[in-house]
Amino acid sequence: GQGPVLETEFPAQAKFDHLPAPRARGESTGFVSVQEGCDKFCTFCVVPYTRGAEYSRPAADIVAEVRALAADGVKEVTLLGQNVNAYHGAAGSDPEWGLGRLIRELADKVPGLARIRYTTSHPADMDDDLIAAHGEVDALMPYLHLPVQSGSDSVLAAMNRRYRVEDYLAVVDRLRTARPDIALSSDFIVGFPGETEDDFAATLDLVRRVGYAQAYSFKYSARPGTPAADRPDQVAEDVKAERLARLQDQLSHLVRAFNEQCVGRVMDVLFDRPGRYRGQVAGRSPYLQAVHVSPETGGIDGLRGRILPVRITEGHPNSLAGQLVGATVPGVQP
Ligand code: SF4
Repeated sequence: GQGPVLETEFPAQAKFDHLPAPRARGESTGFVSVQEGCDKFCTFCVVPYTRGAEYSRPAADIVAEVRALAADGVKEVTLLGQNVNAYHGAAGSDPEWGLGRLIRELADKVPGLARIRYTTSHPADMDDDLIAAHGEVDALMPYLHLPVQSGSDSVLAAMNRRYRVEDYLAVVDRLRTARPDIALSSDFIVGFPGETEDDFAATLDLVRRVGYAQAYSFKYSARPGTPAADRPDQVAEDVKAERLARLQDQLSHLVRAFNEQCVGRVMDVLFDRPGRYRGQVAGRSPYLQAVHVSPETGGIDGLRGRILPVRITEGHPNSLAGQLVGATVPGVQP
């Protein structure tokens, strides 16, 4: 994500409230809503009540919108939906396309579109075609937000998440088989009603097994009107806070380790904004890491909207730094 590594608010009910502002002209990334609403009814979440039943936009409308963005210079598009991989939009005479089919169409038919992402996905909706697309569509970036929420089967059942830990791990394995360099991020809720110390330990264990590149973790907070809010076995605030601190400590080590193992690698960076210092430029790696390139590049004007190889020289907790590879930019000394 673009925010701080570890946020402390509880976001599950308000994904669309955090959408980026409408894109200004000349920007190189864009966001396209492909579905809204949700039929999953996780017991902590208000989306099914506030946003209603799942609705998928027709594929042709989405393709037209992405074409228009690409014609306007957008290189990277993020497909958005509260349960985005439940997408099943009508496509001409086909009754419906899944998200994998839509992604293939965008990659094949939209000139200039170099990068595709999607969020927020549900682990139970990672179907075969979507997983295969991760191995077959170059433009589909090797980074996926796949929220697990908890590593305890009993908590997952109480959340009505519709998968067990082993199902989630199987999805991760299949994704890594399809796309060995894929990196994952997740949301976590600690202190869900009834969560025991053993349940929480299972979450820490799952985190160790998956090895996330990014993560967002939150204390459970009751949403009025949701089933979990009425449970009598709410976890005490101090217990939630203590568990959150332990989880965030473990996650921040993993994120830092992921960023540090990028040092020495050459990564394609989509440059889209000035850096913090005069002349410095910033962009995003395939893994959505912020990457800063040194001031000798001559500033953002020559680089905005371009995807160029960068040798990573520094891995920080929340960003990378590097240098352009080769004399790839006219007028720019790498
Ligand atoms: Fe909410 Fe669950 Fe639907 Fe996500 S999948 S929007 S958490 S009900």
